[in-house]
Amino acid sequence: MEEKRFVYADNAATTPVAAEVLNKMMPYLTGEYGNPSASFYGLGQRAKRAIEEARGNVAQVLNASPKEIFFTGSGTEADNMALRWFMHSETARGRKKLLTTTIEHHAILHTAKALEKEGFSVVYLPVDNYGTLDLNALENAIDEDTALVSVMTANNEVGTIQPVEKIGKICHEKGVYFHTDAVQAFGHIKLDVKAMNIDLLSLSGHKINATKGVGAIYIRSGLALEPLITGGGQEKNRRSGTENVPAIVGLGEAARLKGLNMERESAYVTSLSKSLQEKILKTIPQTVLTGHPENRLPGNSSFAIAAIEGETMVMDLDLNGICAATGSACSTASLDPSHVLLAIGLSHETAHGSLRITLDTQNTPEDVDYIAERLAEIVKRRRAMSPVWKEQ
Ligand SMILES: *Cc1c(COP(=O)(O)O)cnc(C)c1O
Repeated sequence: MEEKRFVYADNAATTPVAAEVLNKMMPYLTGEYGNPSASFYGLGQRAKRAIEEARGNVAQVLNASPKEIFFTGSGTEADNMALRWFMHSETARGRKKLLTTTIEHHAILHTAKALEKEGFSVVYLPVDNYGTLDLNALENAIDEDTALVSVMTANNEVGTIQPVEKIGKICHEKGVYFHTDAVQAFGHIKLDVKAMNIDLLSLSGHKINATKGVGAIYIRSGLALEPLITGGGQEKNRRSGTENVPAIVGLGEAARLKGLNMERESAYVTSLSKSLQEKILKTIPQTVLTGHPENRLPGNSSFAIAAIEGETMVMDLDLNGICAATGSACSTASLDPSHVLLAIGLSHETAHGSLRITLDTQNTPEDVDYIAERLAEIVKRRRAMSPVWKEQ
């Protein structure tokens, strides 16, 4: 048996900051501390230029114009801006209905709930057992009161990628606007806001090897909007507050690197995940892959493992130096398992055995072997102690 290793396999929760990203940020954490709004001297102008370079880099990965990118304090803030700003804006044309799905991140779902309290109506569209939105259901749900459709590009728990291009097309044919929470997808799969008919898109730094506490929103040019945060008028008055220059520079560099390397990286990470899935499904009986078998994020492997609690697995994996996640109950301080697992049709019992392993570029084939081997041991040992386990 191998020595204990440290394997970070929770890259959907956050990613480590890349060395190139930190290097690019360092000057702005030290000598280049100017306020980007201080435009009368070089120190301020250089900070401003650094932000504009980052904006260009983010725009390029999306096939957007730099004018359409606005930096925010997080992916959550971008999601809030997209929904709240939009529903209250002139662009909503007085329409009161928001369509979204049952499997969105809480940044969307809890914002939608808040909008309901403000008098808007929200329809939560169901997904199939793979977590894919039914396009007919979407088409039928859009009516003359619908202002906005918000569907995530890819799911953070089960990894399923939505048919975003088709969703955008339906929205535009029906004359409604389309927002997508691309926090999990940005930098990991190819996105093109023009080809995909996207009007609003949210992204975040810390899911692509930049720092936490920085995100961005793409807003198609021509959309009128009210600012979520008012003040000094930064970000063309859409998001006031002195810019977090180092974090924005880091996000820009991370985006640039993802743009350059996406194809190669996603092929590599996909091969790691496929190998992990094969090993786990082969060695651990009564285990299923959750989410779509093919249309899924390169790094996402999510499972439902019978007769074992997700939080038990995660804690046992931690004792072996492995960081992973579960959508099962106790870990989230709520009594119910994850809304996503229930929405894709898992029973409470099955959802309790959920395990999410998310790999990224820093992981290796040795990590995959180690995770698969340790997980098989853990499940075997726990099941042997379990009164409900019956091997078939
Ligand atoms: C992480 C995540 C968010 C939130 O982004 P933060 O920058 O952590 O606020 C939103 N949506 C999805 C799908 C995510 O995975």
